[in-house]
Amino acid sequence: MFQEFKLNKQLIKAIDKLGFKEPTPVQQQAIPEVQEGRDIMVCAETGSGKSAAFLLPILERMLSVKAPNSGTRALVLVPTRELARQLAKQCEKLAQFTKVESGLITGGAEFKYQTAIFRKNPEIIIATPGRLVDHLGKQKNLMEDIEVLVLDEADRMLDMGFEEDVLKIAEACGERQTLLFSATMNQKGIRHMIKQVLNDPIDIVVDSFRGAHSTIQQQRILADDDKHKERLLTWLLSNEEYRQAIVFVNTKAKSETLYHYLEYHNVNSGVLHGDMTQDERNHIMQRMRQGQITVLVATDVAARGLDVQEIDLVINVDMPRSGDDYVHRIGRTGRAGNTGLAISLVDNTEWNLKAAIERYLQIEMESRTIGSLKAKYKGPKKVKSNGKAAGSKKKKDDKKKPLNKKAKEKLAKKKEEEKSKRSNKKYSTESVDGEPSEKEKSRHRFKKNIGKRRKSKSDTDDKGFYGDGSAPFKLRKNSNLQESDDDE
Ligand code: AMP
Repeated sequence: MFQEFKLNKQLIKAIDKLGFKEPTPVQQQAIPEVQEGRDIMVCAETGSGKSAAFLLPILERMLSVKAPNSGTRALVLVPTRELARQLAKQCEKLAQFTKVESGLITGGAEFKYQTAIFRKNPEIIIATPGRLVDHLGKQKNLMEDIEVLVLDEADRMLDMGFEEDVLKIAEACGERQTLLFSATMNQKGIRHMIKQVLNDPIDIVVDSFRGAHSTIQQQRILADDDKHKERLLTWLLSNEEYRQAIVFVNTKAKSETLYHYLEYHNVNSGVLHGDMTQDERNHIMQRMRQGQITVLVATDVAARGLDVQEIDLVINVDMPRSGDDYVHRIGRTGRAGNTGLAISLVDNTEWNLKAAIERYLQIEMESRTIGSLKAKYKGPKKVKSNGKAAGSKKKKDDKKKPLNKKAKEKLAKKKEEEKSKRSNKKYSTESVDGEPSEKEKSRHRFKKNIGKRRKSKSDTDDKGFYGDGSAPFKLRKNSNLQESDDDE
């Protein structure tokens, strides 16, 4: 019961109105520690109710410890704009019967307008790191009254390259209580961040089986190629029972293509990716929340903050690039105790990725086939103990099949020809006195340079050519770098 946390009456009223009956496990464990004033690091899966786990004790503190002359007292840092908006909404709902104010500071909104937000001194600021650092550059003392700092989805912030910004912000906050939430504590750099910003934290692990969302059924269907995946997708969308679905792909370009494909097939759909303006994204999210869109095609970062309880189907048209991305994707469904179904379409290039994800999360996706759309690809013939495909290299013994007489003669002839070719070459490149010829020397020079790093762009002249006249490499048009969906 929420009563056991001795929360303010206005907060209990809001909790009742939101229909929260019992605290979730993460709330059960984290709220008392935060109320004690301890630093905490929490490993909790998405959809576990972690936002209320830090918002409730923060709101309680704002209400019970008065500080009329203080600036902003609590700061929540999150990796993406969507997540920030989502949190701001949650905070507003929980604070609806109080006078506690919160402000939202993210990229994609007007800087001047945000300066005005700071001037109003809201008790709580919810921000993405990049934009907040920009503000701190102009006004150094903005964060000096912070009493509680929250790093939400810290793994993702590191993923997105925000480490330096987060450390800068933490330093600007001075002495405070720090709460760190992350889907995983294995992320590169997370231990360093914990050491830098937390003070003797309590370690709370809510779900050590990271991938095992008990409320989400996880399946995989084998596919031959993208065209086959499209057919599987339309079949699933017209045959599965669901209220709203989210379809994940790995690139912005693919999300647009698939969205148009679905529209063409009369599926009521929308698309969400990092190239859209903030207004476009907000509009789509709102339509999704209001149930005006049935199927949303999205890339990872864009859909991160999406909390729509009606989503009960997630389809991975592309396998996510990591186990953590997989957890976040499937966590769009099965929220707050609801059940959900997550289906991954796996082609032969993705088998090993699927195996790695299963191994990392200690899960096994249930295998499923759709009779009329059975893939020719049947999975690897043999799998290794880690679930990955065993190499297709033939065993040595297999190669040693006895040759018949004709084949033996042919092989001997071929060997002879190759031998004579080699010796001819040798004579033609060597000079008479045994010294290597010019041709041989130049080949040697060329070989010596193989594998050496090419010169940097700064070594080129203003036409983009190196001193030796060679042109630098160009980024491939479809390179992953251009397709990156990183936000903020
Ligand atoms: P979160 O993990 O914070 O993104 O929360 C996921 C969803 O669970 C949100 O829609 C919350 O409103 C909801 N939620 C949070 N706490 C509770 C609770 N104690 N009971 C029911 N739903 C909750």
